[in-house]
Amino acid sequence: MMQTQAPIAIIGAGPAGLTLARLLEVAEIPYVVFERDVSANWANEHQSSGTLDLHPNTGQAALLEAGLLPKFQSLARYGVPITIADAQGKIHSFLSREGDEDEPEIDRKDLRDLLLSSLPPSKILWDHKIQRIEKENNGSVTIYFTHQDPKSGFRLVVGADGAWSKVRSTIISSKPQYSGIHFFSSFIKPENPIYPLAASKAGTGSFLAFGKERQIFLYYLGDGSYHVSVGLKISEKNIPDESILASASTLWDTFLQEYFTGWASDLTKFVRSCDGKFRSWPLYTMTEDAILSWDHVPRVTLVGDAVHLTVPTGDGVNNAMHDSVNLARHIILLGVNDLESATLAYEKEMRPRAVAAIQKGHWMTRHMFLAKGPEEILAAMGTDD
Ligand SMILES: Cc1cc2nc3c(=O)[nH]c(=O)nc-3n(C[C@H](O)[C@H](O)[C@H](O)COP(=O)(O)OP(=O)(O)OC[C@H]3O[C@@H](n4cnc5c(N)ncnc54)[C@H](O)[C@@H]3O)c2cc1C
Repeated sequence: MMQTQAPIAIIGAGPAGLTLARLLEVAEIPYVVFERDVSANWANEHQSSGTLDLHPNTGQAALLEAGLLPKFQSLARYGVPITIADAQGKIHSFLSREGDEDEPEIDRKDLRDLLLSSLPPSKILWDHKIQRIEKENNGSVTIYFTHQDPKSGFRLVVGADGAWSKVRSTIISSKPQYSGIHFFSSFIKPENPIYPLAASKAGTGSFLAFGKERQIFLYYLGDGSYHVSVGLKISEKNIPDESILASASTLWDTFLQEYFTGWASDLTKFVRSCDGKFRSWPLYTMTEDAILSWDHVPRVTLVGDAVHLTVPTGDGVNNAMHDSVNLARHIILLGVNDLESATLAYEKEMRPRAVAAIQKGHWMTRHMFLAKGPEEILAAMGTDD
């Protein structure tokens, strides 16, 4: 078994894991990142991913601390307009956001590339899908992978491995609960004949159409294409098999069609005409109880969705990066010889934030994803049309 010198193992090269890696890199604290994707480009080539808005006090503050804010600002889209419509395409609200500098958008893949480009490639081990971790009698931690040899000798393992974290079970016994909401996503490229219609609805912003417990969203991306997201309430047992995700027509004809009866065909056409394979996003959430009953476990901790997974609230990536800033600050302050005090301090600060994030997710489920339509959403947001 190979011994490694890095005291800290970060599991997962998502926004949380890479932010932590970058902050440790700048502070010259040794670490290694293990990521299940086979390469840096795998996700870009195989998964449809959308856009994220970074908030001033969390996501942007993390990039400032990481020395990456100017680069982010050169990639980000500011003042992105938002249109809210109903299932017939009637517009209920238009937020121009011109001059709004607060919550710029960046494509998920650009954020990952930005963070990756700030790290030495040798510190990220791709194709390392972890299966489990085990504590040794000497107190160190060994990590077991699905295809690679185990690696041992870690003094701290940080689970930044997202919704289905393998590290989480070492700390928290309960599993994420299905929220009842399922999203499918794909994209429309500029060459697609439907593109001009999408551009007329969303422009360089977001077009969000809400029907009863159904949504069709269009988001403008940095390369000019549109990310298409379709949300609906379905029971867990009705979540369709991956086999129908291969093309828009298969997914529409065999599954989605019946759920979108009565919707304007202009809107459903966006789903039926998508260019790529669909990605399936059943939305799960952790419970407040899981966080409140978590007792600190030495040598292991969690950041990001691994700990406070919720349905999308617009805060997920921001909270994930904020966790990493706080954990990094405590590690840097106390040094690698007192990782125990650093993780205890981080967890004490993070727990109430995690509970608040989960509660916000419940609010979003009730008032947005399960709403009857845009009127209810705008009323809940305090911006009645
Ligand atoms: C449909 C949808 C839309 C969303 N929209 C927004 C939004 O607009 N704004 C926002 O702020 N948030 C949004 N979110 C939430 C946001 O995506 C997450 O909160 C954020 O990505 C969490 O970052 P993370 O680094 O904790 O986890 P992740 O981004 O999930 O990253 C985890 C990483 O760990 C890797 N990994 C997983 N398992 C293993 C393993 N066993 N071994 C090794 N590596 C592993 C993964 O490949 C991945 O690279 C959305 C989520 C969904 C589902």
